[in-house]
Amino acid sequence: MHSVFIDELDAQTYAENVARTGSTIIIPAGATEQHGPHMPLGVDAMLSRSIAEAVAQRTGALVAPALSYGYKSQPRSGGGNHRKGTTSLGGTSLSLMIEDVVASFISQGFDNVVVLNGHFENYQFIYEGLDNAVVKCRAAGAASRAILLSYWDFVDEETLAKVFPDGFLGWDIEHGGILETSLMLLLHPHLVNMDRVVDHPPAKLAPYDIFPEDPSRTPDSGCLSSAKGATADRGQLLFETVTNQVADALKGELLLGNISIEVK
Ligand code: ZN
Ligand code: MN
Repeated sequence: MHSVFIDELDAQTYAENVARTGSTIIIPAGATEQHGPHMPLGVDAMLSRSIAEAVAQRTGALVAPALSYGYKSQPRSGGGNHRKGTTSLGGTSLSLMIEDVVASFISQGFDNVVVLNGHFENYQFIYEGLDNAVVKCRAAGAASRAILLSYWDFVDEETLAKVFPDGFLGWDIEHGGILETSLMLLLHPHLVNMDRVVDHPPAKLAPYDIFPEDPSRTPDSGCLSSAKGATADRGQLLFETVTNQVADALKGELLLGNISIEVK
């Protein structure tokens, strides 16, 4: 019986798991980013790590340490990179970090690498690093495969209708809103203060970006929609849907069996 987190494993147990057929490592990717007055800076990494843990328990995968810095927060999806607390990487740094870490896991013998993204702005830069790592490793003879996903893309219509009864306006403005706050209330409730939620209408931002950014374009709260309707029950609906759907997708794509290791 052992942890799914590799930073909690000894090297021998780790090596035994890497040697298994279908060995899979999930890398959670987040950010250090303000999430309004009611939640901490580490939300994106915490949520992707918790979701990765549940997926690993259903698939026999292991979970790598979360990437805790992400690509620059943007006004139309994260409130903007100018805000205090938001501490970001440039795109080249993020891509190269992913490329190096993924290439290392593949060269150690993992059959599959999954990057489970929890920060909207990361996606294309992780895509670049993952693609380069897989091309490089396959040219060197490895048969490994990789998958990239953002967890919110696995929320189905039925769950959306239950979690957003007043209508869903898009994942980009969910920064600090009902999705993340509900999941945090479920998974890390001691880090959420609902008394500090600022209730304001969803941000309506013009369909372009400005350099340098005009801070008055985004709500003072740092959130792009209100978290007022967030509850742990809604978090549970989201968490169950996402973890089940992600686990099913990985089992199908990566030919993983059912759980074949014991986890605690
Ligand atoms: Zn977030
Ligand atoms: Mn984010």
